[in-house]
Amino acid sequence: MTDRTVLILGGGPAGLMAAETLALTGHAVTVCEAMPTFGRKFLLAGKSGLNITHSEDFSLFRTRFGAANDRLAAALDAFTPTDVRNWAASLGTETFVGSSGRVFPTVMKASPLLRAWLKRLNDLGASLRPRHRFVGFGEAGESVIATPEGEIRCHADATLLAFGGASWPKLGSDAAWVKPLRDKGIDIADFRPANCGFDVAWSETFRERFAGEPVKSVVATSDAGSRQGEFVISRHGIEGSLVYAHAGALRDRLTADGTAHLLLDLAPGRDAARLTEQFTRLPTKMSLSNRLRKAAGLDGVKAALLRECLDPGTQQNPTRLAHAIKALPLPLLRPRPITEAISSAGGIRLDALDSRFMLKARPGLFCAGEMLDWEAPTGGYLLTACFATGKAAAQGIEAWLREKGA
Ligand SMILES: Cc1cc2nc3c(=O)[nH]c(=O)nc-3n(C[C@H](O)[C@H](O)[C@H](O)COP(=O)(O)OP(=O)(O)OC[C@H]3O[C@@H](n4cnc5c(N)ncnc54)[C@H](O)[C@@H]3O)c2cc1C
Repeated sequence: MTDRTVLILGGGPAGLMAAETLALTGHAVTVCEAMPTFGRKFLLAGKSGLNITHSEDFSLFRTRFGAANDRLAAALDAFTPTDVRNWAASLGTETFVGSSGRVFPTVMKASPLLRAWLKRLNDLGASLRPRHRFVGFGEAGESVIATPEGEIRCHADATLLAFGGASWPKLGSDAAWVKPLRDKGIDIADFRPANCGFDVAWSETFRERFAGEPVKSVVATSDAGSRQGEFVISRHGIEGSLVYAHAGALRDRLTADGTAHLLLDLAPGRDAARLTEQFTRLPTKMSLSNRLRKAAGLDGVKAALLRECLDPGTQQNPTRLAHAIKALPLPLLRPRPITEAISSAGGIRLDALDSRFMLKARPGLFCAGEMLDWEAPTGGYLLTACFATGKAAAQGIEAWLREKGA
């Protein structure tokens, strides 16, 4: 590896997009990846259908990043969902819009796209170094990298950190970089699980009978608002897209108050007053299962959820039962561990960066991707923002190198 190069640390979507941007403009780029192969999380994301971006109106798309909306806006404007689709097509991966507006490759997988991407990078002359792990900074600010041949030190003209977040550490993004960066005074928010499931204290009977069962078409409400969808009962609690959409709000509520509930409307489209009336007409001696089926059309896992969460008094009272069907508070114990989460919140605070994604305290050191402190729901927002910040940071590097005359 030569000095006077641009060094990219981390070979996931953000790092590879930065490498492509820089290599296309003729820069000597070296990408060091800790794992034996590049883009492992990207490949895993493709296992259940790679949701690469979203087709909703871009003015809405830009609002999916919460507190980071404003800080990510310029990067997203410069690499929009349409750009993501065109870029994938340029690598031979055509995409389609699914029924929910999410965008997927027609082949659903990530592997053909990643293969073509790595070939393009090779053809452009980028030096791709697997099994090269950043372990810290040397005295002169150089990057210290552990390789199979021993430790090397790289004094690059500019360095991009693209280490990813802290979920699924076995795929490479293990957040081991946090300590060396904190030691250098870089402001890093603690990592928290995002787009994650939650633990619920299910009874043994409920767990054994319903783990793996989908709960279809319910409206779930939290501080994040209300939305209709489905989730899955797991052995530990709840998982699935509807839960992930509320995960940030529920996690923050648990942190603030020590308790949090996901409010479930198990019978969307039915009215509480009408349900009360229908329950009132049925004999109280009738079993709960029969009453739920006859008056509310509820059975299976939905009926079991009511049995699991409601006290006998509520189960017998038509008004309270009807209201519980429309707003069942499901008590949550804690988020599932970050190792299982789809993504993470936390990381390098956006205030620590200038508009070029360069660390204000460390000129020449840039950051991109999920290692930055932003979060977004599932729906292709995560990958799009990783591509966009990778590209923006690469353009920041070019501007910085021009300024330096390097
Ligand atoms: C199961 C699952 C499904 C997902 N599905 C989707 C989806 O459909 N759509 C979507 O938008 N997003 C999805 N995501 C999220 C998406 O994959 C990530 O947001 C994205 O990969 C982050 O890109 P990144 O480049 O910032 O980090 P990463 O992809 O994590 O890449 C970082 C790289 O840096 C390397 N690295 C870490 N530390 C070091 C070090 N010290 N030295 C050198 N290299 C290092 C890692 O090995 C890794 O290869 C999914 C995630 C998971 C876990």
